Amino acid sequence: MNGSPRVLVVEDEPSFVEALSAGLRREGFALDIARDGREALDRFRACEPDLVLLDVMLPRLSGLDVCREIRTISNVPIVMVSAKGEEIDTVVGLEVGADDYVPKPYRFRELVARMRAALRRAQLQEAQSGLAEADSGQPLEIGDVSIDSQGHEVWVRGETVRLPLKEFDLLRTLMVNAGRVVSRDDLIDEVWGADYVGDTKTLDAHIRRLRRKIEVEPSNPRHIVTVRGVGYKYSEPAASPGGKGDT
Ligand code: CA
Repeated sequence: MNGSPRVLVVEDEPSFVEALSAGLRREGFALDIARDGREALDRFRACEPDLVLLDVMLPRLSGLDVCREIRTISNVPIVMVSAKGEEIDTVVGLEVGADDYVPKPYRFRELVARMRAALRRAQLQEAQSGLAEADSGQPLEIGDVSIDSQGHEVWVRGETVRLPLKEFDLLRTLMVNAGRVVSRDDLIDEVWGADYVGDTKTLDAHIRRLRRKIEVEPSNPRHIVTVRGVGYKYSEPAASPGGKGDT
């Protein structure tokens, strides 16, 4: 998604809506507000949000029902919240298809962190489904590097390069997300699995090895770029100098 992530806030408590929307706008989210369950479904269809922040206890249609309904038509990330005294079992929230569940009262910072995490996961899943399409067809080619997931092959400047499985998965994850930063955590989740408990030096070692095989100048990488404090990004190379590219 480009620009501000669009969030549908479903909340019936006016004072909450006010505080929450002010805070979320400050965080850079674009908001749509729904104040009951039916309105939530109408707004959802109209505004196609990137994420739904969904209160459980709502007039007209409960948050659980709203969640179930949305899941019949969309995989949008849904973060459920419930007020004190309205607690439902976390499991119930996740069973109806919510991605995360936050009991009130929550710390605003924590809520935002969980929303961003849900958005990142959704982005990765989207990239993976793009990859699934790529799997059924052409190799993915960016600049002078091509990767064929089906044949498990990589070409760099016309030469076949042999990559061990983890390096291959790492390159694939970076390439399908080309132009976007993939956080260290997300890379580790994707390549080693969410339950991986090793230290992150493993990731850096794999990145170093990958650069030696992919980059023209491994010490001055152009493709696999470090984004300090966040993770790595596969850069789409600029048009070659002297080319007839659009300006
Ligand atoms: Ca409520």
